[in-house]
Amino acid sequence: MTELRLFNSLTRQLEPFVSVHPGEARVYTCGPTVYNYPHIGNMRAYVFADTLGRVLTYAGYKLTHVINITDVGHLTDDADAGEDKMEKMAAEKAQSIWDIAKHYTEAYWADIKALNIRQPAHWSIATDYVPAMIEFAKSIADKHCYELESGLYFDTSTVANYGALARAKTEDGEGRIEEVEGKRHAADFAIWRKTPAGESRQMEWDSPWGKGAPGWHLECSVMSEALLGLPFDIHTGGIDHREIHHPNEIAQNQARCGGDHSGAKIWMHNNFLIERSGKMSKSSGEFLRVQLLIDKGFHPLAYRLMCLQAHYRSELEFSWEGLQAAFVRLKRMVMGVSSLKTRHAELVSASIVQNELSSDAEKWTLKQVQGDDAVESTGQIERRIGTMRFEEVIFDDLNTPEALTSIDWIFSLKQETPEAKLATIAKMDSVLGLDLLSLTRSDLRIRPKAAIITEAEIGTALAARKEARAAKDFERSDAIRDDLIAKGVEVMDGDPLGWDWMLDV
Ligand code: AMP
Ligand code: ZN
Repeated sequence: MTELRLFNSLTRQLEPFVSVHPGEARVYTCGPTVYNYPHIGNMRAYVFADTLGRVLTYAGYKLTHVINITDVGHLTDDADAGEDKMEKMAAEKAQSIWDIAKHYTEAYWADIKALNIRQPAHWSIATDYVPAMIEFAKSIADKHCYELESGLYFDTSTVANYGALARAKTEDGEGRIEEVEGKRHAADFAIWRKTPAGESRQMEWDSPWGKGAPGWHLECSVMSEALLGLPFDIHTGGIDHREIHHPNEIAQNQARCGGDHSGAKIWMHNNFLIERSGKMSKSSGEFLRVQLLIDKGFHPLAYRLMCLQAHYRSELEFSWEGLQAAFVRLKRMVMGVSSLKTRHAELVSASIVQNELSSDAEKWTLKQVQGDDAVESTGQIERRIGTMRFEEVIFDDLNTPEALTSIDWIFSLKQETPEAKLATIAKMDSVLGLDLLSLTRSDLRIRPKAAIITEAEIGTALAARKEARAAKDFERSDAIRDDLIAKGVEVMDGDPLGWDWMLDV
């Protein structure tokens, strides 16, 4: 198998993946702050992390993936003087933080499911780890921290090459906005935030530095160590984390491990999904959430496909047209699978092929490709080339746009059996996660929530129109069509994908 190479943000280079524990891959992904719904840009970060996990599994590693849920500690800005996002939202909504966290965590998990993102081994909830955070902080406090009125701060000058991940240009790093009084360096950051005298927080804990709450950066260092051990293999997050959050995690890990390493061997960052009209801002009314895409009638996996069509390190611009194009591509693939299934069933019933289609694609493929003396048919050779190409590109820093063309290639093979093609597509889809073998045509109907007509009503109208046309009653058939148009239904006679109607989005 081709060697797996990944782009390490630490070195800004592609590096061969050599796991810390042989045969295992341990991955930590910075999860959401659950004060609001995730937007689709946030979800790009998890599609990327999931794809990475799937590639590692495909490559044969036993994967342990951790995603955290931040329910305390993330401030409204990167300086330490902002408000806790959770406290702020709870106050605005006059609800308890726990209720806010529960609601938005569940909404996030619904998006995870909708996008066919595999469940990680652990969802680590930050508030479950506060005692461990206090212990971690105690272990580094003497050598690396100092106390101020407002809390315990990490002295970034106590570790070597602070900010190297960010390639910070200034001595103190970039992007530090608001100073906390008494900080030794602008880049220093809070490990523990004391509750100001006379105030109370919904979430606060006792600590050697007074009642308060942990700093956001501390959470990830503590949870990754607790669940994966330091050092572990790969740490992921969005590219914004490369600048402050991850350099701070690295500084803490260095302090914890006596400067030996940065905690993870490889740090990987997905680039941003951008949208020019500002609809991705959580403060804009109808912001871009997965649920909004579903309400407009799109299948959420069309968005997953849209993400995969770009390399994770490239910016991706969101547009409804782009989503529509991804949706059509997904439909084509699903219909391709459906025709292969039909063809296979025909062959089976004609007893030409004895094999049952195995759901275990891997076993089936091996059975076909191995066999020492067997001479490969043209179809088998072509399929093998397609699979090799697929592996080459996914192992080349997760080149999913190219991997998608390998699936197209398998569909196009003329000389190969439907069964073998299906098994190969299933195997490739174990990396892409598009659910190609389970989705059906009907799953991919555009179904806008705002539609004023039901699918059953459309079906009845189209049947009546067919009857009218058969009876050459064109006046009536046109009237039915006009009525459907008025209700937002486009009648698609002769559509190449075989769709007979579509609802306007
Ligand atoms: P947050 O809940 O703000 O901590 O963000 C969750 C994840 O989404 C982090 O990994 C961010 O880096 C990532 N992220 C935020 N905005 C975008 C975006 N527009 N495109 C891709 N990833 C993003
Ligand atoms: Zn984090």
